[in-house]
Amino acid sequence: MGLAMRVAIVGAGLAGSLLATYLARREGYEIALYERRTDPRGTAPERGRSINLALSERGLDALRRVGLSDQVMKDALPMRGRMIHPVAGDLDFQPYSHSGDRAINSISRGALNNALLDAALSYRNVTVHFGHKLTALDPATGSMEFGGVRARADIVLGADGAGSAVRGQLLAVGLLDESLDFLDYGYKELTIPARSGDFALDPAALHIWPRGSSMMIALPNPDRSFTCTLFWPNGGTASFASLSSPAAIRRHFERAYPDVPPLAPDLISDYQENPVGLLGTVHCDTWIAHGRVALIGDAAHAIVPFYGQGANAAFEDVVELDRCLDETAGDWPRALALYQERRQANSEAIAQMALENFVEMRDKVASPVFQWRKKLEHVLETALPGRYVSRYELVSFSTTPYAQVQRRIRRQQLAVGAALAATGAATALAAVILYGRWGRHTRSGQMGNHSRKIVGQKIVGGGGR
Ligand code: FAD
Repeated sequence: MGLAMRVAIVGAGLAGSLLATYLARREGYEIALYERRTDPRGTAPERGRSINLALSERGLDALRRVGLSDQVMKDALPMRGRMIHPVAGDLDFQPYSHSGDRAINSISRGALNNALLDAALSYRNVTVHFGHKLTALDPATGSMEFGGVRARADIVLGADGAGSAVRGQLLAVGLLDESLDFLDYGYKELTIPARSGDFALDPAALHIWPRGSSMMIALPNPDRSFTCTLFWPNGGTASFASLSSPAAIRRHFERAYPDVPPLAPDLISDYQENPVGLLGTVHCDTWIAHGRVALIGDAAHAIVPFYGQGANAAFEDVVELDRCLDETAGDWPRALALYQERRQANSEAIAQMALENFVEMRDKVASPVFQWRKKLEHVLETALPGRYVSRYELVSFSTTPYAQVQRRIRRQQLAVGAALAATGAATALAAVILYGRWGRHTRSGQMGNHSRKIVGQKIVGGGGR
């Protein structure tokens, strides 16, 4: 056998660790993972940085293919729908699927990352170098620097998250162009602890407090606590900037989220001590260079978290890259080109749908028109099984490529609009509901004037954590 092909993966986060496992199964590779952090196994997660995430079919599919889904799902908490918390009045449970039995899964990010690292390191051809932060890369030769330490690889894969240093290096030598769209919103995490040893809220739901221009969500954790995430404007009234004194914070929660203060004894200190994270979308014109360097996961296409798809999409990238290597018999330049060709349109599609879902989550879910539309959707799904499928179902419970989902949903909307119009009596209703007020918000995919674009500049810290 000839010399092994040396593959460097920069970033041992979710995408990097899973990618190492996929590549390790191939003959003739030596895989080195370089991670700027220290070994996360056995240490507490960073405070206030997305403790849990929702894993759905795409992520599970990627884990199943390498025999990891059972282990990861052991501690998962299935969430079968949204639980809407209005300012006043009853909670409203909205199932995610028409059958009511499909669920997305709340998973501990740290436990998932650790399980993926353990899996990668169980292969003898994988090594991991913690405390190695990439500081320089020559994309033409694969030479890398990590502070004072030098290394070289035949292939360099940048799995180093939204603020990717690999992307920064390609940008610096003119090998790619990027555009970063930041929202004028940030996120901050709070905790609702277990109450008398049990969950303080229903653990089988993703909880949402929609408040028009802002919102809070909460996902359950295996220790029976909930991690809440505020998605608030960075500036203006009722924003992260305007609320800082304990009295103002308490007053605001008592007025806008009245059921929360009694459940969150550390509300004020969590709010004051936990950081505000950035939210944004990364677009790059290319993800590959010289047939030997490629970006994967958030490094290539970080998105806003409102569809719970960032990690799922990153895992899909891994599956696709592996498939491209199969199809090209390990010819990296061809495989990388194919990978980019197949994934780029899909990541643009989920980036757009994730932005649209912010409007849906923070505002629409509370409106009677939205609730009527969801019911109609579930009726159509039952009446036309396999022919009418909701966008949520296709995104979260299938592996239909995201760009295909977008096209299919447009076709379905047109067909339903036409059918409703044909009934005559429903014409006005169809126009209003499907193409009127609601459609304008969601089709545009924009946050109104709530975002700003930065082109050709490196993210510092990124939306990652
Ligand atoms: P990361 O997980 O960011 O990993 C990158 C790794 O690279 C890190 O370990 C980092 O330390 C390392 N690194 C960075 N720079 C360097 C360097 N210079 N040298 C070496 N190593 C480096 N996705 C979902 O699917 N479902 C959800 O419910 C969900 N919720 C989210 C909620 C929030 C608030 C946010 C912000 C994101 C959420 N996401 C969710 C998105 C998800 O977190 C990301 O898409 C996912 O973490 C991407 O994985 P990654 O491996 O590409 O990047």
